[in-house]
Amino acid sequence: MAVTPIEQLGKDALRTKGWFGAYKWLILRRISQAAIIGLFIAGPVGGIWILKGNLAGSWLFETVPLVEPFVFLQMLAAGMFGFLTTTLIGVAIVVAFYALIGGRAYCAWVCPVNVITDAAAWVRRKLGITQSAKISPHTRWWMLGAALVLAAITGQLAYELVNPVSIVHRGLIFGMGAATWLVIAGIFLFDVFIAKHGWCSHVCPMGAMYSLIGAKAAVKVTSPNRAQCDDCMECFEVCPEPKILPPALKQGMKQGLPAMVTSHLCTRCGRCVDICSKDVFAFAFLTPGKAAPAESGKGSSMEEEEERELEKAS
Ligand code: SF4
Ligand code: SF4
Repeated sequence: MAVTPIEQLGKDALRTKGWFGAYKWLILRRISQAAIIGLFIAGPVGGIWILKGNLAGSWLFETVPLVEPFVFLQMLAAGMFGFLTTTLIGVAIVVAFYALIGGRAYCAWVCPVNVITDAAAWVRRKLGITQSAKISPHTRWWMLGAALVLAAITGQLAYELVNPVSIVHRGLIFGMGAATWLVIAGIFLFDVFIAKHGWCSHVCPMGAMYSLIGAKAAVKVTSPNRAQCDDCMECFEVCPEPKILPPALKQGMKQGLPAMVTSHLCTRCGRCVDICSKDVFAFAFLTPGKAAPAESGKGSSMEEEEERELEKAS
């Protein structure tokens, strides 16, 4: 089968799976993102304190501390060592949670900026924009390092003053000022007109850090039906990190690689699951370190798979 023309994107999934089947994970993600904002707002507005604080640091039920690991890293770099045991517990809880479910699940299920970048990707498709500036996806690692160096030089959480995630989140809870709208417009226009998936897949240091946290997560996108793939390429069009897909599809099948997305960059957004009319993809909970079976029927460990990748590269 030929590559699906952009204007037909998602039509096969709608035909074969119905509206809910074709948007299930997207709907659940939007509910999750809205619910998290709602829980933060419920306190100041309605006096219902389920989550108190903001994404950087909060209390769950005024008892369980939650601390954002990227903010904590900046605190360390800034030499702010006067934190309490509760801060350490808060970081440990958040790190353990994302280490299990996949670090970049934060991007797809929590981060408010994801709604802006998803909207920008949709507008790009509608406008038929195919050109994209060449920005190295490694830029996010440089950004991560720069944020820490900035913290070390200033002794402050300097990046937090310009971090779009923090700015948008604070705007949603405490009110949208001109600066918030400027940030939203900047990221949206950057993603529409400058680079496809520009911010999240190339620049954002938080996404980079969460990808490391979830490198060995148990929740995976598997591809149990990859033999059914008809090369329509629709998953490549909607995936924010399309370069991670080939090893999970026919290319990986030929090489005997596990039927799963192994990259730490996967956001667990589920768009590949939703959009595939052949139901190639699924979510699975796998023992950390174990890979989904390849078509041989034999399971392989992540180490075996990594060895194979290394052999190929050498
Ligand atoms: S990459 Fe950054 S801005 Fe994008 S969704 Fe993840 S944390 Fe949010
Ligand atoms: S592989 Fe699927 S779940 Fe992972 S980022 Fe891409 S579209 Fe989302």
